[in-house]
Amino acid sequence: MPLAGCQSEVMDPTIPPAILFGLARDILRNEMGKRIEQRRSVGRDTPEGARLTQEISTLVDLGKDLDETTAKQIIAAGRAAVDSKLALPKMPRVDAAEIRERYPDLLANDAQVWVGAGWRGILNDAFDAVKDCDVVVRVAREHCAGLHLIIGPKSDWLEADFDLAAEVTERTWSRSLQVCETCGCQSAEGAWSRYRTRCAEHVEVR
Ligand SMILES: [Zn+2]
Repeated sequence: MPLAGCQSEVMDPTIPPAILFGLARDILRNEMGKRIEQRRSVGRDTPEGARLTQEISTLVDLGKDLDETTAKQIIAAGRAAVDSKLALPKMPRVDAAEIRERYPDLLANDAQVWVGAGWRGILNDAFDAVKDCDVVVRVAREHCAGLHLIIGPKSDWLEADFDLAAEVTERTWSRSLQVCETCGCQSAEGAWSRYRTRCAEHVEVR
């Protein structure tokens, strides 16, 4: 009979709790790492940075109070479980590599790019307008609900380039405030519209 007991232990598919918690914490750490990386690229003091800080602290808390059921859920569903705990629909974003391919040499090597897919057309119009100038785009990101561009000279400012860059920056900013950053439709008004530009359907998408 001791053999049977031994055998059943071998056959038992239950993961020992220590390993269970270890695996779940690895997944949580991985999710934290991704958000810390994102926060580094958008800046800690931006609204997006603040949201990421919030998510990171949620993940930290989740790891602290981990029980066996939650750990199993995290492992079973992996990333999906973590995302559903955070319950945040994700916004599709313009990829910096896509911009570099379309406009070689226009984006600075260390440029910050953090722009929802709904603003893709506005972003392309801005790049089209300055693509023949002697300029480089250093920042293209959401900031205070609008699409914020920082365009600089490759060497010294030419007056015509400076004027055009200023005009494009301004126009891009005001156009973005009219367009949902998620889908590109006309934006809606709400208490939240100071912080993000969205249509009624995408108010909660971050
Ligand atoms: Zn929308």
